[in-house]
Amino acid sequence: MIFQGKPGGVEGFVPDCLIFDVDGVLIDSSASYPEMIRIAVEREWEAAGFIADAPGYSAPLDAVFKRHGGFNDDAHIAWGLLNIMASRDHGSGRLSECAPAPAELETIIFRCDTGSARRWLEKNYAERFPLGRVAEKCMEIYHGSGGRPGVYTTEKPMLNAWWGDLPLPAYVFTGRSSSEWELAKVMLSWGDFPDERAVTSDSGMLKPSPEGLEHICRRFGHETPLFFGDTASDRMSFEAFGKGGFVAIGNNLGNWTPNFPCVRDALSNLIGWRG
Ligand SMILES: [Mg+2]
Repeated sequence: MIFQGKPGGVEGFVPDCLIFDVDGVLIDSSASYPEMIRIAVEREWEAAGFIADAPGYSAPLDAVFKRHGGFNDDAHIAWGLLNIMASRDHGSGRLSECAPAPAELETIIFRCDTGSARRWLEKNYAERFPLGRVAEKCMEIYHGSGGRPGVYTTEKPMLNAWWGDLPLPAYVFTGRSSSEWELAKVMLSWGDFPDERAVTSDSGMLKPSPEGLEHICRRFGHETPLFFGDTASDRMSFEAFGKGGFVAIGNNLGNWTPNFPCVRDALSNLIGWRG
């Protein structure tokens, strides 16, 4: 492992910039994206003539997807789950019978390679629910539509500091689209964060690939970034990049060291920041 322990400690690692994942690191979206998936799954399941007699998504299912590493796009999760459930329907059309339990889901997606979750789903499951429509519905639920507020309104900032006051140059590598990142910027009061410092999903640079980290370091001349993430796909991007250090935030990556409940604690403990 490239970085275990304190920068400047036994391995002499000194970070030259900070790169942040957004959800679960800068923004608490624990109530928004899983809720978006739940609503999308239930509505689309019913729209297809099935019966939504159980919740379409849950925190335990979300944890299974987030531990896998290949499912970094929540609209893809809603789409994949709908098609997996449709393949399990034996005539009743009941969501309660077709939804996999968390342990079953783990067994199902265990076979999926982390670099190609979308292709794996397309290859193994009939596309009863088309990706384009599900993704569009997810965005309506997230941003709000038809007078209904978007689920993004339940999000909260996890760091209350201006990006320019952080102790090292700050960058963002997120699976959010640029429009979703704009909402996060407002929530963080980072409205002046420069576009070129953020890699969003619009760029095509997606975790668990290391491209976003490579792009930032190449463009701004950094060698040893400290990357903050909360899910397996973040850790895998870092491991594929192979330079700098990775800090796990929150509970998803409990066996990774260092691991902190929030960015402020991490910066304070790792580089003595008292901002
Ligand atoms: Mg995240």
